[in-house]
Parts: sequence; structure tokens; C-alpha cells
Amino acid sequence: MTSDLSKSWIADRTKSFDSSGIRKVFDLAAKIKNPINLSIGQPDFDVPENIKRSCIDAIEAGKNGYAPTQGIPALRERLQNEVDNRFGHDDRQVIITSGTSGGLMLGLLSMINPGDEVILFDPYFVMYPALIQLCGGVPIFIDTYPDFRIDPNHVAKAITPKTKLILFNSPSNPTGVTASVDEVRGLAELANHHGVALISDEIYSGFLFDGELATPANYNPETIVIDGFSKSYGMTGWRLGYMHGPSALMQTILKLQQYSFVCAPTPVQWSALAALDTDMSGYVADYRSKRDRIVAGLQDDFELVVPGGAFYLFPKAPGGDASAFVNKALERDLLILPGSIFSRRNSHFRISFAASDETLDRGIEALKSLAQAAV
Ligand code: PMP
Repeated sequence: MTSDLSKSWIADRTKSFDSSGIRKVFDLAAKIKNPINLSIGQPDFDVPENIKRSCIDAIEAGKNGYAPTQGIPALRERLQNEVDNRFGHDDRQVIITSGTSGGLMLGLLSMINPGDEVILFDPYFVMYPALIQLCGGVPIFIDTYPDFRIDPNHVAKAITPKTKLILFNSPSNPTGVTASVDEVRGLAELANHHGVALISDEIYSGFLFDGELATPANYNPETIVIDGFSKSYGMTGWRLGYMHGPSALMQTILKLQQYSFVCAPTPVQWSALAALDTDMSGYVADYRSKRDRIVAGLQDDFELVVPGGAFYLFPKAPGGDASAFVNKALERDLLILPGSIFSRRNSHFRISFAASDETLDRGIEALKSLAQAAV
């Protein structure tokens, strides 16, 4: 039974977005016995043993209290050194956050005033419009179909006196597309020219299949970079991220962190030191071959853009109606997500290839036969 009284307590800011699209798919999924699950946004491998061990050691050694708001010195200083060596910016400060999501939320809260416009690229990570609206901001979508590339000229046209920031993500969730040096340089210079903030969500920086990450921070020293340990080390449930950017902003974010998350989980911060010493290249090679497997399996029957990173593919739904296609897939026990969750269009669907090769092969077979039936 739901209480009508408690409904009247709910603040207006929560009503500007809903999450029913995703819930619907997961509710349907719960009814399937042995689903071919290609909907999950997390690695299918477990946390490597040495990282688990160091977390357990930290807990057993009593490292269980609050950490400093900005993170334990050993981890913060290590990441700060890496960032300094990489970028050489004199005003770039690292802070440790409760997941990438924690950094994202505090970053947006500390910059967006009600009515501020935030530019983002469609398709987008599902949290972005919701968080922007929660802060009173106005999302301004730049459509990147059909190749999911960023055209700085389109961005330039979207900039108004109200534009506060640009929210950018590469490799991308949900497309897996990795932006080129020219794209990120164009974006970085544009933000710089207009005095607009630029957030670069680089959570998939560990999953790159065809070369190095192009980051706007190389071309605009004010870029705010958000990254984390969730995807790179299979630590999604451990809630650890970090961000770096201009120190005045990082200090403000810390003030908010102090009065909200307090700190990222202390034992997990200790284990992150072990994570940074762990070679994940074998895992990435494995995911590269999963990418190749799914692309080879589907490219004759689907219109798709080959992903350069992350673990997603965002093909066009045969017939052009993603919800209808996702429902047909469900009839074959296949779980994929409709594009409408990540986009104002509903023409494409997201596949996560973070799954066993056996699951991928079952998924490829089901998708091929659905596409052939649709012809
Ligand atoms: N950004 C993007 C683009 C993501 O896909 C995700 C996770 N799905 C996050 C941020 C959040 O990751 P976490 O909070 O686990 O670090």
C-alpha cells in the first residue's frame, strides 16, 4: 500500500525525470529463468585477487574509520603525482570521491545555478540529464546520430550566454565510441574560448581497444576530469572514484563532500593502491576480442558503429522502433536496453558485451535471427 501523505512530501526537483524505462526492463528480466543478459553495465570479471586481499588486509588492520575528505594521503598523492606528470598543469588538484557518480553529482552541484544550460551529447549516459535537472540546470542536447561523432561547429551553435558547462564522455556509454584527438581538441578549445566549464567523464579510460585516450585536458588546462576504479578493476560495488581539475573548484567540491558523502570508503581506498599496481592488460585484451566477436557476429545484419572502447554497442533496431525490438528480443530470453533510456530518440538499442563468450554467442544468434525475421 502506498501512502498518499508521503507522496505530498516529495520535492518538486525529483519530478523532472523518471527511471521507469530501466525498471521496466529489469522487472521483465526478473521473470526470465536463464536470460541471455546483454544489459549489464559492469565487467563480467571479479575483482583481481590481490586487490581483494589488500581490501581485506586494510579491514583487518583496522583501517575502518573516516578518511580525510579529499582521500587518504597515500592514494591522493599517488594519483596527484601521476596527474602532474601527465599534464604538467600548475593548478590541477586530485580528490578522491565515492564512485565516479559521487564526483559527477558534486561537480554539477557545485557549478550549476538554476537556469544554467548544460550541453551534453545525445546518446548520453542515463544519469546526466537527471543530475543536471536535479541541480536546476537545463540540459541542451546535441544529436550525434548516426556516427556518434562530435562536431565542434554544432557545439559552437548551441552555446548561449546561459551556457555553464559541457558534459562529455569518451569512451561513451551507451555507444562505445571513442572521440578522436581532433574532436576533443575542438571541444577543449571551444570551452576555453567561451569561458565555459568542461567535464570529461573518463570512467572507461581503462577499456580502450584501438589506441590511446584522447582527453580534452591535454588542450584545456581547466578541464575537469572524472575517473574511477569501478569499471577498470571490476570494483563497481566498492564505490571509488577520483576527479581532478582547477583547485578552487575542487575545494568547493570537497566542502560539499564533507557535508554529504563524508569520504570514500576507507579500506577500498587502501586497496586502490594495489589496483594501481595491477596489470589489467590481459582483461582489456579479452574485452577487445569480445568487441571483435560481437561486431563480426552482427555487422552483416545490423547498422552499427564499431566501438573503440568501453563494452557497449549501439546498433540501429531493425524497423527503427527500439522498444518493439527489445520486446521481441525478450520473447527469446534476450535482454538488451532500448535507446530511449539513453537518448531522445528510440531508434537504437544498447548491447553490453561484458558477458561470457558463450552468452555473447547465444546473443548473436538470437539477434541475427530477429534481424532476419524483420526483413
Ligand atoms: N559515467 C559513466 C559514463 C558510466 O557509464 C558510469 C557507470 N555506469 C558512471 C559514470 C558511474 O560509475 P561509478 O559511479 O560506478 O564510478
